[in-house]
Amino acid sequence: MSYSVSLSKLLESIGAKEGSNLSVSSKDKTYIGRLMPHHDFSDGDILVIKLSSGYNVGIRIYPDSEVKVLEHSAPALKKEVAFERKEGRPNIVFIGTGGTIASGADYRTGAVRPALSASEMIALVPGITDIANISAKAMLSLFSENMNVEHWQELAKAVAEEINGGADAVMVLHGTDTMGYTAAALSFMLGDVPKPVVLVGAQRSPDRPSSDAPSNLTAAVRFCINGGAAGVFVVMHDTLGDDSFAVHTGTRVRKMHTSRRDAFESINASPIAFLDEEGTIRFTREKRAAASGKAAARTDMERSTVLLQYYPGMDPSLFEEIMMKSKGIVIAGSGLGHVSESMIPLIKKACGSGSVVVVTSQCLGGRTNLNVYNTGRDMLAAGAISVLDMLPETAYVKLMWVLANSKDAEEAKRLMMTPLAGEMGDRRTVDV
Ligand code: ASP
Repeated sequence: MSYSVSLSKLLESIGAKEGSNLSVSSKDKTYIGRLMPHHDFSDGDILVIKLSSGYNVGIRIYPDSEVKVLEHSAPALKKEVAFERKEGRPNIVFIGTGGTIASGADYRTGAVRPALSASEMIALVPGITDIANISAKAMLSLFSENMNVEHWQELAKAVAEEINGGADAVMVLHGTDTMGYTAAALSFMLGDVPKPVVLVGAQRSPDRPSSDAPSNLTAAVRFCINGGAAGVFVVMHDTLGDDSFAVHTGTRVRKMHTSRRDAFESINASPIAFLDEEGTIRFTREKRAAASGKAAARTDMERSTVLLQYYPGMDPSLFEEIMMKSKGIVIAGSGLGHVSESMIPLIKKACGSGSVVVVTSQCLGGRTNLNVYNTGRDMLAAGAISVLDMLPETAYVKLMWVLANSKDAEEAKRLMMTPLAGEMGDRRTVDV
């Protein structure tokens, strides 16, 4: 559906185009904003504009409403910047993959599009080119819900290539929805990478005044330059303000809120470091120090791996085909890692056919333990293993990687129970 005939005529008569800045007065109220395409679910007489706050509003246009064009063109997103490379400064590479951090309003479709050029990414961090040699590549242009295993593989190879080509740090600008999965994938694929690899995103796009993109990027750059840490990390707001940023270990982090700036949390571990607004870094535990050396990307993944969430009423017959086809099965169980006893014969059958069944907990907080209740013991007897306090999604990514990098199911199980990239705690730690 598009704007009604009368509204389309009105817009045409004043020369308004998508992206034009309009003043719209209707029923004693005046709004100023950029003309957006018609919203499919609203009436044809509702005019949609994007306010400078970034929010869209729909305004009903009556015969006596007044619509004026204040400025004809859509704002240009492109801000080209000149880079000067200087000896002695750290070399930081930005790899853009899309997501809200690389987004602006698309005045054609009205949606947010994930495409920012390399120089636009750099322009988001004022003053950055004075302290580091920055280069940027827009590698993908995706919302992270569209990321898949091939993208992780491509990204891991690109990161290793940049480090081997002289980068002191690589920053991956990424959508927030599946950032934890990508961070986990890079953590296993890049192993003991000698430099910081930092994923960073934003909950509000850079064309909005309230965007968290510049502050998250600034914190990430500061961590890259002054943190001296090697590994895969996620840097995002720690609070709602711009006063504290958390550095999460790539295998421990989850998006815990749909929209808040401080949506990211480390689960079953504290963030490895915090930065304040001046950029002072406080580590909460020992870091692996950045060093010289090469990076290697081991990117093989076993694709027939699934992540299932147990729920009361789960019908084993619906999952038989899936489980019997999968070499790796991660189950986010209830509580200590349980499923209903009706699922246990299927677990036994899958394990018997050579699949690896790994149990995590949908509680997220705390460790799994299959030794406490009969259900758990029956799951162990069926062949399932549990992986302490590992996040379900991290276990899924790790299982894909482990299955592709071990000779048999036994070795895969052993590796699943061995911490490889900070993904699990220690069996000796006590939960209170
Ligand atoms: N859906 C978006 C994405 O994950 C959200 C974001 O970037 O924050 O790409």
